Amino acid sequence: MRWRQGRRSSNVEDRRGESGGGGMGGLGNLLALAPLLLRSKKGWLILAALAAFYLFFGDSQLFRGGAPQPASVDSGQAGQAGAGGDEVADFVSVVLADTEDTWGQLFQAAGSEYIPPRLVLYSDAVRSACGLNSAAVGPFYCPTDSKVYLDLSFLNDLKQLGAPGDFAFAYVIAHEVGHHVQNQMGISQKVQQARAQSDKITANRLSVMLELQADCFAGVWAFYAHRDRQMLEPGDLEEGLAAAAAVGDDRLQQRSGRAVSPDAFTHGSAEQRAYWFTRGFKSGDVNQCNTFAALGGRGR
Ligand SMILES: [Zn+2]
Repeated sequence: MRWRQGRRSSNVEDRRGESGGGGMGGLGNLLALAPLLLRSKKGWLILAALAAFYLFFGDSQLFRGGAPQPASVDSGQAGQAGAGGDEVADFVSVVLADTEDTWGQLFQAAGSEYIPPRLVLYSDAVRSACGLNSAAVGPFYCPTDSKVYLDLSFLNDLKQLGAPGDFAFAYVIAHEVGHHVQNQMGISQKVQQARAQSDKITANRLSVMLELQADCFAGVWAFYAHRDRQMLEPGDLEEGLAAAAAVGDDRLQQRSGRAVSPDAFTHGSAEQRAYWFTRGFKSGDVNQCNTFAALGGRGR
């Protein structure tokens, strides 16, 4: 990816080195939360779900890298990462700025104003308006505080998932920004309401539609980054597609040794994720990202 000449964003919040939850890591955070959660029946359920989550993912190699290593964004080239992987932080800032420019223009063209999200860089664990999260959950967007949360070690995780490269990471950032766009468009809220009134399987399917739309929005960003700023190099699109597929629910289920169960999908299959990213990338058109209409019945 040709990114070094790009603009840097002023919306990056660097909280690396701060301890999100007392420095105990994911399980420690869970234990710290336990007394609070045990006060209510709902809390018990949340605690049980969290415990199950950590049992499945806590110490697996799925989302977290192995030994800490300085990350460099260019998988194929010699990394010039400064201490703490600041080249990667610089890269993230450029990608975020580019999403700001893209969505700023698209919102303006639609007669509205894009209010960009803040992006929080963190390590190990972070406190957001959505609660206390360990890096094991991977990058996420919190609609309540309109911030994207990113642990840079996820770049290594992508490599382990078979999706190396700078553009793979850019896709992940653009996907999270896609959730912010959904939030600002009022889509997230509608889906949240519909999910609350649905059975589990329907709720999962609504989640898949929301996630695939975020993939499509990431593709829309890539369209403009490529057409207007020539940021993509040969091989980049393939890196993005590989990343989209690598985080498909079927692949993740297989990697964790579970049977592939489409009803349990919350993000979409590898094929679906690559399809919707491509659809956004080829068209550059937000209207091509109506996953809700396309997937409202059964099908793709
Ligand atoms: Zn997502």
